[in-house]
Amino acid sequence: MISQSMYALGANRSCIRELFEYGLKQAQIVGKENVFDFSLGNPSIPAPDTVQEAFQSLSAQEDSLAVHGYTPAAGCPDARIAAANDLTARFGVPIRPENLFFTCGAAPALISVVRALAVEDAEILAIAPFFPEYRPFVEQNGAKFTVVPADTDTFQIPVAGVEKKLTPHTQGIIVNSPNNPSGVVYSRENLAALAELLTRKSQEYGHPIYILADEPYRELVYDGLEVPFIPAVYPNTVVCYSYSKSLSLPGERIGYVCVPDCAADSEELFAAVAGAARVLGHVCAPSLQQQVAARCAEIRPNLEAYDRNRRTLYDALTAYGYACVKPNGAFYLFVRAPGGDAQAFSDRAKKENLLLVPGGDFGCPEFFRASTCVSHDMILRSLPVFQRLIAEY
Ligand code: PLP
Repeated sequence: MISQSMYALGANRSCIRELFEYGLKQAQIVGKENVFDFSLGNPSIPAPDTVQEAFQSLSAQEDSLAVHGYTPAAGCPDARIAAANDLTARFGVPIRPENLFFTCGAAPALISVVRALAVEDAEILAIAPFFPEYRPFVEQNGAKFTVVPADTDTFQIPVAGVEKKLTPHTQGIIVNSPNNPSGVVYSRENLAALAELLTRKSQEYGHPIYILADEPYRELVYDGLEVPFIPAVYPNTVVCYSYSKSLSLPGERIGYVCVPDCAADSEELFAAVAGAARVLGHVCAPSLQQQVAARCAEIRPNLEAYDRNRRTLYDALTAYGYACVKPNGAFYLFVRAPGGDAQAFSDRAKKENLLLVPGGDFGCPEFFRASTCVSHDMILRSLPVFQRLIAEY
């Protein structure tokens, strides 16, 4: 017999993947230049030179075991030291190498933290709009998934909305900033208000409510905006970081969980994260990638191309009459669908080979997501289609 819940998850492709694959097929029929694929969040800028050089010199090493062998379960010392030093220097919260557990990206990092918190009847909150994979990450790992409806005017955290969803069973809330799909960076004031609420409710319930800070887009921020380091605002925070987007290495699967000393029961929580990783088979993240991370902890991406795309698409779409909160981070635009039904709008756009992700799975069915990690030329070629479509409404 086969697990029907796993079957359903495997057999039903995500709507993002479905659109992407549709785009590949359409390209064969109508030509690549006539498909405007804004579906995937696959970093389109190359990995920085320092990263490429690190790969090359590490691959050329003769001691195979040193590069390709198993590392300690939580990660190789060099990677943990480099990441801890970088975090401490940047954000003023002391982070020790022992606070870091290297993982195969942010996805397993998040799952390990969910698992570590999944006591009986545990509930984990997510704030709409949210990365659709949070739902299976939480529901399939022992906790109830609760959605806080979006503040669609600003896409900041609706703190009063969070309060309505908190219960004595709430173990954590996932906070993703810069946000996929809105591109919004939560402000320090907004996070402070959330921190005040969670502190008050933790006291009332008699146990900590943790923030699970999902930070694959931490370094992708524009206009010099600050991305507050959440443990500095709310100590009971566990950070899930990834190099997928910051170093353009999504296929290399590398990231970490950081359980800072300031988090309640940090040692026990860290051990539980390690236990969850063990159960899930995620111990000992890719060795070569850990060593690249060790050498490149201080490298930040050159965001010029993403920034240009963001400005071009935002300026054009808003000039045509689309409504969109200006994104300050990540590489997405989250746009109110003309007509109010993003699925219908996305289906209409698909007929023009314009591939936009409807926002239902993100918890906002009136919005669509357009990735801006695409070629600038494709954006320019797509603009007449966007303009024609809104004129129909
Ligand atoms: N969280 C968010 C918000 C994401 O957008 C993604 C990937 O797109 C992930 C987590 C997973 O990242 P990783 O590739 O590091 O597993």
